[in-house]
Amino acid sequence: MIRAYKFLLRPTKRQEASLTQMLRDHCSLYNGALQERRDAYAHPSKTKIRYGDQSAQLKEIRAFDPERQGRWSFSCQQATLRRLDKAFQAFFRRVRAGQKPGYPRFRGVGRFDTVVFPKDGDGCRWDSTPQDAVTRVRFQGVGHVRVHQHRPVKGRVKMVSVKREGGRWFLVLACDQVPAQPLEPTGRVAGIDMGVASFLTTSEGEHVDNPRFLARSAHKLALAQRNLSAFPQRVKAHKRTRKHRAAQARVNSFHAKVRRQRLDHHHKVALDLIRSFEAIAHERLNIAGMTRKPAPKTDPEQRGVFLANNAAAKAGLNKSIQDAGWGVFLGILAHKAESAGRELIPVDARNTSRTCPRQSCGHTSANNRPAQEKFRCLQCGYTEHADRVGAVNVGIRAGLVLPVL
Ligand SMILES: [Zn+2]
Repeated sequence: MIRAYKFLLRPTKRQEASLTQMLRDHCSLYNGALQERRDAYAHPSKTKIRYGDQSAQLKEIRAFDPERQGRWSFSCQQATLRRLDKAFQAFFRRVRAGQKPGYPRFRGVGRFDTVVFPKDGDGCRWDSTPQDAVTRVRFQGVGHVRVHQHRPVKGRVKMVSVKREGGRWFLVLACDQVPAQPLEPTGRVAGIDMGVASFLTTSEGEHVDNPRFLARSAHKLALAQRNLSAFPQRVKAHKRTRKHRAAQARVNSFHAKVRRQRLDHHHKVALDLIRSFEAIAHERLNIAGMTRKPAPKTDPEQRGVFLANNAAAKAGLNKSIQDAGWGVFLGILAHKAESAGRELIPVDARNTSRTCPRQSCGHTSANNRPAQEKFRCLQCGYTEHADRVGAVNVGIRAGLVLPVL
């Protein structure tokens, strides 16, 4: 089994400066390599430069610029070039598919936040058996950085990444050969319905609320964004004033916090489900629709401030965004299910909340759902919470739940 662990790093001031420099140098490597590919592509011969070509130049680049490039791990720089290669492969794949993708773009220093070490022990070392009680990870060119290891790491560490998120630093360990930890059988199975009002509802009728992390602190975010919008836009990161950078950092850290809270909630809900049920049926998501985004609505009064586009939410345009969130949730659920030896069954969820779940009926009509929460069958009069009806039907389609008698 494969698993990822994410830990908070506690670098010293000096290490933090080195980490920042590392990101900056990797960013310039990325942009330089992108420039080379652009130039080659713009040339009449339309030469394609491949990962192998660029990787072969690394040695020279490092020798030429030992201060900026030579000090960082070689294989880690290869990983950055491979990331660029991936972006290009995706670009060409979409061109071949007849779509109109955007050409891979340069990354701003503030937007280049991850460096990957493809192999533990090469340019970085995860210290699995610390001498003292403090866990540390060593990065080439940075030193031994303290790790807030809040849980034990199991399996074999394959890949190590460093991430900057809202002014904080994180370590991500990707492990394989993680032993599965099967849970005890419970004799219970369920279908789940993922919704807007409730985050999810089980076929047993249990609702999990949709926490509104953003709404809860929307006022503070608005303040932070207003503060940021007072600064001139479109100023390059390194030319911003200290106050401008601080304002940006406040907004960023705010978003990072909401993201963490949401993930934490996903993990808790998924764990609850996995503990309770041996098999879970869920709606199969429309992956193709996920990449579409609703048009943002800007505030005419304040530059750079976005208003909640409620109209879009009502019209269902935000569905893709919600789907993306559920995609993350289902990914977490799948991981936990695999580890615990539980089964997940995706089903086509069309009309699940419009179809009567009664064995003798099965009438399908949009009018069976007179209100958001209410299901009332026009044919037989069966009445139930609409989300639960959805969950029961999902369960029926997976063969887990019996129709209502
Ligand atoms: Zn009915």
